[in-house]
Amino acid sequence: MNSEQFHIPSPLQKVLIKEFNEKNIELYIKRDDLIHPEVSGNKWRKLKLNIEQALFKGKDKIITFGGAHSNHIAATAKAAEIYGLKSIGIIRGEDADFNNRTLSFARSCGMKLMAVSRSEYRNSDTWDYKESLKEKFENFYLIPQGGENFYGINGCIDIINEIETAISPDVIYVSCGTATTISGMILGNKNHRKIIGVSALKGGNFLLENMRKNLMDVYSDEETVQYAMERVSLLTDYHFGGFAKVNEILIDFMREFHQLTGIKLDPIYTAKTAYAMLNKIREKHNNKPEKWVLIHTGGLQGIAGIEEKTGPNVY
Ligand SMILES: *Cc1c(COP(=O)(O)O)cnc(C)c1O
Repeated sequence: MNSEQFHIPSPLQKVLIKEFNEKNIELYIKRDDLIHPEVSGNKWRKLKLNIEQALFKGKDKIITFGGAHSNHIAATAKAAEIYGLKSIGIIRGEDADFNNRTLSFARSCGMKLMAVSRSEYRNSDTWDYKESLKEKFENFYLIPQGGENFYGINGCIDIINEIETAISPDVIYVSCGTATTISGMILGNKNHRKIIGVSALKGGNFLLENMRKNLMDVYSDEETVQYAMERVSLLTDYHFGGFAKVNEILIDFMREFHQLTGIKLDPIYTAKTAYAMLNKIREKHNNKPEKWVLIHTGGLQGIAGIEEKTGPNVY
């Protein structure tokens, strides 16, 4: 495996921000965005074991799913290219623009794109649909949208293991889209740290159900799931209007965070999570020293898609 080109363990970077110092909090950023320039962040974590499986099983191609600006599509296209696999991306919506930044990039990695209607896309995780793919394509390995499967979850256990070998964190913040990443982190949470998920979508409560289901699949015991979930909370009020919605407050915040730390956030996930985390500092009313970690799950390729909508450069 040509894994040398991936920066693992990813750096755990200490950053200095006044508000944190005042509350006696040491802040660290887990720089999964630096794992690889194009297979970045949690998408690499979720793809890693899936790609290994595809190779073990002698498959010659990956088929996966995503929206027209999907970080997962971009990451899968590049990862497949690195490992010498062909790739096919099934894209949501017949109006998807194959020339946008994400899909141009995916094509440049050799990914073949197929746009399907939204209703066909919604059916794509059914057994019938998967069977119908076998009539069209041979010898493929299927990865669901966002890398949301057993191997995807398992690949994210290392996020917390890597942090634990470096520091003893009190609180860990992570962005949630499907809750695959946070589920892996909860499975790896042997020291029972506080894990706080921030929903990137409006109506994010389904994410808690996803976590419970993922944990139940592994633990097969309600009490064990309950115990693990006691240390998890989900913030659902920082979506800024919904998935991939942004406003000036968020963009200004991204710029300010960049000025303070030198670190770029993505507008769809990590900026909303960092914003939530900064808000939550105000609720800490004691001076107890704590270590907080923000997982930088990557996603910087998504900035272009937001700029295509909103115009001016974010950075
Ligand atoms: C996809 C993505 C997420 C969401 O991860 P889930 O495992 O689906 O919860 C978070 N952050 C970034 C940058 C992403 O690209």
